[in-house]
Amino acid sequence: MKLTIILPAIGKEEGKKYMRTWKLEPLIAPILSALTPPEVDREFFDDRIELINYDTATDLVAISIETYNARRGYKIAEKFRERGVPVVIGGIHATLMPEEAINFADSVVIGNADGVWLDVIKDAKSNKLKKFYYGTKYASKVEPDREILSGKRYLPIKLVETGKGCIFKCKFCTTASLYTGGYHVRAIDKIIEDIVYTNSRYILFADENIASNLKWFKTLLRELKGCNIRWFGQGSLTMARDPEFLKLIYDSGGRLILVGFESLNPRSLKVMNKQWITKIGNLDELVKRIHDAGINIYASFIFGLADDDEETFKYTLEFALKHSFFYAAFNHFQPYPGTPIYNDLLQSGRLLSPKWWLEEYRYGEVNFVPKKITPEQLYILCQSIRKEYFRYSNVLKRLKETVKRNHELEFIANYILLNVNQYYEIERRNSIRLASYLDELPK
Ligand code: SF4
Repeated sequence: MKLTIILPAIGKEEGKKYMRTWKLEPLIAPILSALTPPEVDREFFDDRIELINYDTATDLVAISIETYNARRGYKIAEKFRERGVPVVIGGIHATLMPEEAINFADSVVIGNADGVWLDVIKDAKSNKLKKFYYGTKYASKVEPDREILSGKRYLPIKLVETGKGCIFKCKFCTTASLYTGGYHVRAIDKIIEDIVYTNSRYILFADENIASNLKWFKTLLRELKGCNIRWFGQGSLTMARDPEFLKLIYDSGGRLILVGFESLNPRSLKVMNKQWITKIGNLDELVKRIHDAGINIYASFIFGLADDDEETFKYTLEFALKHSFFYAAFNHFQPYPGTPIYNDLLQSGRLLSPKWWLEEYRYGEVNFVPKKITPEQLYILCQSIRKEYFRYSNVLKRLKETVKRNHELEFIANYILLNVNQYYEIERRNSIRLASYLDELPK
């Protein structure tokens, strides 16, 4: 038997390569490969890196989808099913939208494949695939089979999972919809083994919130000290209240944390169910504590909810520049299916295209009607704030502050690369349509 694992891409511009910064090593293919019995042959196509061989001799195709690559994933599934090859679809989008995904597949895995993957393989062998398989919510227990990625050129940073889920229940977040406040960790010795196996100095923790369980993560951080790595991750601002946690992050090689501020508008935070951010302390002071510990921040902001308007953009830009964040994402709110805010907008008739992920949606397009400004204004304001933040003079100003916080040359080089690159990518990203030009080179 042969299994073909496919990771669909989002889309690309005609005649151009796939966005380099979107070529992060995937975890799902190594995990699926590790779960697959050794007697099954396997191959992996990463749609972001290479053309998919639709004629490959195979007995089962496994496709993992998120909302942005769902349209492409369904198209790929269609091509294999036309040949009579059964297709199983999984991933976070399929988990939240199984009734949609089953229209494009023979089977849908809901949740993580651990625990059900052997059944899928067994049933595929005997032509008895079920419509739905119910996986787990837990972090994978297997060691990812990274050999399946060999020969593919990814960004020089390895993805490692320490846990799954998040203790918070933000209403826009697919993680919250899936894990409903639960956080599930991997065994620490397995995480260390995994990191050592990658043989890489740069590690990105795939977890949605490393501050979900501070006590447990501190134990991991103590173990990480001997690994001589530089790691990056994402975590809630709550971490700033624990000086020991911050020190351990730095001592274990943690240098950059993505923090979802989401909004400085308390009314928007309330819509998101993230108003707890306003109760954990003074924002400036919390940011300063993280910076003073030598840790840089990748700040993430979302616009367009509650009564967000031009003024919201103004004071958010001031805040971001004042703190000289290493990097920042300024995005309009995106309604992900399966989340409470998506349902609210749908019911109130404010979604412009309720199934945007199935359409020729253009990356960056605003897909809902904000209350105080038009969708077009929201789009323009997002583009303007990005251009302002990543303007050369601002990149240079922020560089000075970044150097004060961290003198490591490799880190400074990454700052320059990321920030300069971002300026050029602002327009490029927004011309990409979902599932476009992916059966063409170059990639
Ligand atoms: S804190 Fe972050 S990961 Fe957790 S639910 Fe909120 S947005 Fe999602």
